[in-house]
Amino acid sequence: MMKSTEMSKDRTNIKVDDVKLYINGEFVNAHAQATFENINPFTNEVNNLVAEGREEDVNKAVYAAKQAFKSGPWGSMKMEERMVYINRIADLIDESVEEIASLESIDTGLPIAQTRKMIARAAENFRFYSRMVQSKLHGESYPVDNEFINYTIYKPLGVVGLITPWNAPFMLETWKVAPALATGNTVVLKPAELSPLTANKLAEIIDQAGLPKGVFNVVHGFGETAGSALVAHPDVEAISFTGETTTGKTIIKNSADTLKKTSMELGGKSPLIIFDDADLDRALDATVWGMFSFNGERCTANSRLFLHKKIKTQFIERLKERVQNIKIGDPMDASTQLGPLIDKGHFNKVSEYIEIAKQEGCEVFQGIVPDEVKAGNFVPPTLLLNATNDMRVAQEEIFGPVMAVIEFESEEEVIDAANDVIYGLAGYVWTNDIKRGHRVAHAVEAGMLWVNAQNVRDLRIPFGGMKSSGIGREGGHYAIFEFYTEPRVVHIAIGDHHIPQFGKKQQ
Ligand code: NAD
Repeated sequence: MMKSTEMSKDRTNIKVDDVKLYINGEFVNAHAQATFENINPFTNEVNNLVAEGREEDVNKAVYAAKQAFKSGPWGSMKMEERMVYINRIADLIDESVEEIASLESIDTGLPIAQTRKMIARAAENFRFYSRMVQSKLHGESYPVDNEFINYTIYKPLGVVGLITPWNAPFMLETWKVAPALATGNTVVLKPAELSPLTANKLAEIIDQAGLPKGVFNVVHGFGETAGSALVAHPDVEAISFTGETTTGKTIIKNSADTLKKTSMELGGKSPLIIFDDADLDRALDATVWGMFSFNGERCTANSRLFLHKKIKTQFIERLKERVQNIKIGDPMDASTQLGPLIDKGHFNKVSEYIEIAKQEGCEVFQGIVPDEVKAGNFVPPTLLLNATNDMRVAQEEIFGPVMAVIEFESEEEVIDAANDVIYGLAGYVWTNDIKRGHRVAHAVEAGMLWVNAQNVRDLRIPFGGMKSSGIGREGGHYAIFEFYTEPRVVHIAIGDHHIPQFGKKQQ
């Protein structure tokens, strides 16, 4: 896709190939020959053209995936053999970390120092699911006296549709593709239209790893056309979706006609609560990283900061200093900490929220975007001071480097405020009182809670949210048992149990 000589730090040398669809083991144009432009968020120039898949292309991809599941070698392959492919994918990702990270940064504006780490983790997703499926994907047995043994087996679903967002594309795609393939399904991936590059790199890698044709397919295109067609397709057994809450609702509605299983990883407005007894140095590090890494385009970002009254003034002073020093710049520069937002539309949305904050009575404090990068979609790191939890900027997901800072006095009050929001994805609590740490962690309505910690991931944990942040969990054994497989029960009679003699003549 990108030659190594072209991966210099000089942006003018970076050339990205046009992107095709990957269907049945071939890179192909869209049926209608349609394409759309992929724009670079740092320069706002065209990176490349992308084949625009629509219903016909989705139909072809689903057909290929169905054939691969039903009649290809994948459906009948031994687990050990399948895992050889899965581990090969991980090795090939490792060999290409630099190239994939560069493509991801060019495509999304995420700083390269951060994409490098994400890509390495993406390889681990495949290794993890290879281990997890081999060691854990087994059923249970339920003996019934001397009459029966009932046992469960977990079978792949068939063709699964994966629909992903633009904010951490490769990482989130592999987070779905790895368990889907490891459990023996075949896949049609519909990546976000704003970040198509690394999905095709994944297709190249999977091609190179030698997976049978049709096992993995990529259809680029827009949500309303390609995405909807995938959701509506009767041969797609399940849709795993990560994206906005409103899109999730539409997908659930549209999947009803074909009664699909769905998994929903949606938006967030996560609280970070700092009590007056907390380790403020570490809490400061975690607050800044948790909000401004990944350009603030992070579903688990601590976008509502609750500060105890006693430490508020002092903490905000230190926070301001950090915010001013965050290095804003070219995402391809390894020293950049904050890059441009994904596109102009999103830039406008985030900027509008900052105006709304002013109208709502917040004091806005921001870092400074250097003049030389003004062509990019840069929103500086922003603090919305004196916010209250009822403001729109504290209730709605902004999905940029913008944090509402809210004061509190009592534990009860802060728990109420933290929960007074439609979302429930993540939460963070800082206190040195162990009892309070547990109490608050149990009381905050969120799928994932960290106490005295930043958002450190453990691949074994159930990842996901409650309320409007999602339905179901990814990660760990949850993905393989609760989503990508179907439990089936086999009842074996081992004795002569009673069978009613219905219709038999009485003697
Ligand atoms: P989005 O909902 O706009 O798009 C996500 C994907 O859905 C894209 O591929 C898009 O083309 C597709 N899509 C859009 N409309 C569709 C339709 N009608 N039918 C089928 N597919 C459709 O989200 P986004 O802007 O790409 O991503 C940002 C959002 O993702 C934020 O809300 C963020 O919080 C959320 N997110 C959640 C998690 C999580 O784990 N909970 C992780 C990352 C991002």
